[in-house]
Amino acid sequence: MPNTVPQLAEVVDPVVQRDEDIARRASPGVWANLGLVQFVLLSGTCLKDHPLVTVAFALITVCGALLRLLLVIRKNGIYSRSPRQWRIGFGASVFASSAAWGSLCAFSYVNYGYFNWNSLLLTVTVLGISAGALVSFTPRRTYLNWHILPVLAPCIAADLYLGREGYAVALITAIYATFLLIQGKHLNADYWKSLHDRNQLESAKKMAEAANEAKSNFLANMSHELRTPMNGIIGMTELALDTDLSIEQRDLLDTARSSAGQLLVLLNEILDFSKIEAQRVDLEFTPFDLTRLLQEISKVFTPQARQKGLWLSLKISPGVPKDMVGDPGRLRQVLINLVGNAIKFTHTGGVELGVEVESESSEDICLHFSVSDTGIGIPPDKQELVFQPFSQADGSMTRKYGGTGLGLTISTRLVQLMGGNIWVESEPGKGSAFHFRAHFGVASRAMDRMQNHSLTATH
Ligand code: ADP
Repeated sequence: MPNTVPQLAEVVDPVVQRDEDIARRASPGVWANLGLVQFVLLSGTCLKDHPLVTVAFALITVCGALLRLLLVIRKNGIYSRSPRQWRIGFGASVFASSAAWGSLCAFSYVNYGYFNWNSLLLTVTVLGISAGALVSFTPRRTYLNWHILPVLAPCIAADLYLGREGYAVALITAIYATFLLIQGKHLNADYWKSLHDRNQLESAKKMAEAANEAKSNFLANMSHELRTPMNGIIGMTELALDTDLSIEQRDLLDTARSSAGQLLVLLNEILDFSKIEAQRVDLEFTPFDLTRLLQEISKVFTPQARQKGLWLSLKISPGVPKDMVGDPGRLRQVLINLVGNAIKFTHTGGVELGVEVESESSEDICLHFSVSDTGIGIPPDKQELVFQPFSQADGSMTRKYGGTGLGLTISTRLVQLMGGNIWVESEPGKGSAFHFRAHFGVASRAMDRMQNHSLTATH
């Protein structure tokens, strides 16, 4: 048996994930930086009064912002060559822009004092960009520190240099910086925790998926392997039944054949179920005669229904085409399960198998099948449950009626593969009606289309 356990995918390295997040969050800061530089240059008087200092400031901030933008846009290429260089480049660009902002603000305090338009403008900008960095640089505390300290430290130094009210401003700025650093530390810790949780969840999900797939594959392989000897047992029992036997021996072998037959049905259902679970089922797309298929099903069940004193009727509505294109084997499987159940759970009255056209287009046709019975019915709270694997409306039924509780699950998946859905309407004691819709091609239309196509091609 081949090794069917899939390899667990590696969970992404958290450091790589962190840098990915940093790059993702960096763009708004870059654009804000570029916009604010222009705003300060145009609305303040710094450029006119101190062109050299202001141009140096503008050059450093713009270059820092552009470097960061380049590192964000070209991240994949640069990072795959050297993650360390990418991180250093990013840190340097943060540090350079922040130091330029902090230095210009300090310069403005010293040259113009606090109550000047330039100083006011720069104070608001510097406080704004320091707070904004809390969001952008949460994933990496080093960047947050490299941003907050170079922005606010020059301002504090200028405040101390100015003395008097400068001491109070320095104290407020220092408290603000400390608050940002502490807040940044907490946000960073929360970020790492959620990253860790996310990774754990991801790896748990992958493990669960892999285990589930391995289980389905194991089940599919096992039931396949078990079917071969089972067929051998049935075949040999039938051969033995053809020989001269005493009444007692014949009776024993009959029981053995019937038990083996039931076991084979069970194995087939498990094989089907596990194949569907492992997504190993592909539907056929072949022409078939729908009327004949329905008549055959009706014929197969007639003796069983008659034996129980039930009527079995087939109702094909006018307009249902005869020649369909689809998977007749899988359609038969669904109908056999529904009609088989209907007869199994009905003691008086009968069963009707019906089909009508639900909708049609030039491409395909949607048929509505129904299997109604006058049987025991299903309680309302169990009507959803019966479509779940290994579920029966009443647990004690296994003893009375047999069955695995897989038939409706398999039918549901097959109907979904046919582009439809299945549902039940039922009243306990009165009966049940199982309905399903499924899409098919119509052979005659496919032929018409082919002919039209070839005619157009000839013209
Ligand atoms: P199985 O018949 O092998 O147990 P199914 O998946 O076909 O498995 O059916 C699941 C359960 O749904 C049955 O055990 C029964 O409780 C209920 N059921 C299905 N069809 C009918 C029906 N026609 N009338 C009443 N109960 C039904």
